[in-house]
Amino acid sequence: MKDPDCLFCKIAGKEVDSDVVSESDLVVAFRDTNPAAPTHVLLIPKDHIVSARELKREHGDVVAEIFEMAARIASDEGLDAYRIVTNVGPGAGQSVSHLHLHLLGGRSMSWPPG
Ligand code: AMP
Repeated sequence: MKDPDCLFCKIAGKEVDSDVVSESDLVVAFRDTNPAAPTHVLLIPKDHIVSARELKREHGDVVAEIFEMAARIASDEGLDAYRIVTNVGPGAGQSVSHLHLHLLGGRSMSWPPG
């Protein structure tokens, strides 16, 4: 399912250009245009899912695929430590209403995040 007004649906559908790092039937990974770390890749389901809040058991395949792809990309980028973040809702910093994982690495990370 796609949302015609959704930027990340357009990226998944190649209507909007992006720097694609990896792609499968279910997931696309592309570089963030405003990187917050030396490696900053976004991983999205091709289907429109608003956020992690909307995930159901039926999304099991895409959830497994998105985490497997993140681990592969981290390995390919030579990251031995990295962070995976997903913001849920504007109050937590979600600016695009299409589920995405941020894969961040290549610098030291502090905790808790701001
Ligand atoms: P969030 O704020 O968690 O919703 O994350 C959205 C991310 O998408 C931000 O880190 C933006 O820099 C990134 N972003 C927005 N537009 C694009 C785009 N066209 N291509 C790649 N990344 C984008």
